Amino acid sequence: MLTAGVIAVQGDVAEHAAAIERAAERHGEVCRVETIRSSGTVPDCDLLLLPGGESTTISRLLAEEGIDEEIEAFAAAGKPVLATCAGLIVASSDAKDDRVETLDLLDVSVDRNAFGRQKDSFEAALDVTGLTEPFPAVFIRAPTIDSVDGGVEILASVEDRPVAVRQDNVFGTSFHPELTDDSRLHGLAFFQ
Ligand code: GLN
Repeated sequence: MLTAGVIAVQGDVAEHAAAIERAAERHGEVCRVETIRSSGTVPDCDLLLLPGGESTTISRLLAEEGIDEEIEAFAAAGKPVLATCAGLIVASSDAKDDRVETLDLLDVSVDRNAFGRQKDSFEAALDVTGLTEPFPAVFIRAPTIDSVDGGVEILASVEDRPVAVRQDNVFGTSFHPELTDDSRLHGLAFFQ
């Protein structure tokens, strides 16, 4: 039995928990989900999810609770992390916003809200490296990735702007892979 940690200081948690469980089942794994609001649990997890929400708030709460350093150690140990939307912003190495203390899990810089505001939210059928069929990607006040370091693989782009990346054990998406029934991206990040 695997333990999946979903960071739950703020943002969408239940949808990710469901997507992880579905992906685990498809890959013949059994996964127990822990929602994490304080320090002490991250080190016991086998995989970790950093959801979307509001990156300035998530960043502040992670630091206040002392979860930030646990996530850094978790990723440095080579365990799998999926960071989505605001989670990607927090996981980046530069959010160009002093209110976001980045965790430097991915050598990328991001542009917050680069696709516009809430009304500019959109869905796109996205070709993702590693998936055979396009993925239904939901973008909500999404960031773009505007520079990547050599160790970062770009898995998907929209209009030449990277929106899904992988650096070894850490995956980042600027969209919300948990908001449809399609759990292939969670599968790719955690179980393949
Ligand atoms: N725009 C938000 C931020 O900068 C992210 C939005 C999201 O996670 N859907 O934190």
